[in-house]
Formats: sequence, structure tokens, C-alpha cells
Amino acid sequence: MSDNIFLKIINKEIPADILYEDKISIAFNDVNPQAPTHILVIPKKEIKKLSTTDLSDQDLLGHLLLVVKKITDKYQIKDYRVVINNGSKAGQTIFHLHLHILAGRSFNWPPG
Ligand code: 5GP
Repeated sequence: MSDNIFLKIINKEIPADILYEDKISIAFNDVNPQAPTHILVIPKKEIKKLSTTDLSDQDLLGHLLLVVKKITDKYQIKDYRVVINNGSKAGQTIFHLHLHILAGRSFNWPPG
């Protein structure tokens, strides 16, 4: 068993509220939501963070953004923010690449 909690969700070793899944990715509700809607989109491929990707991940990275669009279309989420925290100083706590979809409230800019 891996100690990567997101791999455990991918492998259905621990439960998650899964909203979308395909061969490449899976999306589920964040366990500690920071907005009324807070969804995580993750690749099934083990990737620690955005900065460890390379050109071979081009299709995968595009796929993840299109999954964001698929989910926001499906749930009729019009205004939303997509966040990738890269590295602990940027707020990354789980070292498996993930996109946050946040919606349902206003967001400040610049972010905190
Ligand atoms: P990060 O801070 O790494 O960008 O985001 C990690 C996110 O994963 C956090 O928003 C956190 O609430 C969420 N998270 C951590 N553990 C779990 C879990 O076991 N299940 C779910 N659904 N979300 C988790």
C-alpha cells in the first residue's frame, strides 16, 4: 500500500465522493472544502507536482483542464477558480498533482 492518500483514492482503498472518472483521471469532493464547491481533479499517473511534469505529459495536462470543463459544464458551475499549488511554500500538502476547482463564493485577487 502506498502512503499517497490520492493513490489510495484512485485504487479505491479509501472512500471518496467521486464525481467523475475516466482512464486518465478522477475527480472527487475535497474532504475539507474551502468554498461551497471544492472539487479535486487528479491524474491516475503518479506525478508529484506540476514542476515534475515534462513534454510527455502534454496530453495529460490538457486532459485535466478539459475534465475541469466537463465537470463545470455538468454541474452548471459558471464562475470558478482553478488552483494548482506547487510545492509546500505555495500551499501544497498532498504530493500528487491535483487541480482544485473552487466555486460558490467570491474570491479575492491577489490570492492570500
Ligand atoms: P493541497 O494543499 O496539496 O493543494 O491540497 C490538498 C487537498 O486535499 C486539500 O484541500 C485537502 O483538504 C484535500 N484532502 C486531503 N486529504 C484528503 C482525503 O483523504 N480525501 C479528500 N477527498 N480530500 C483530501
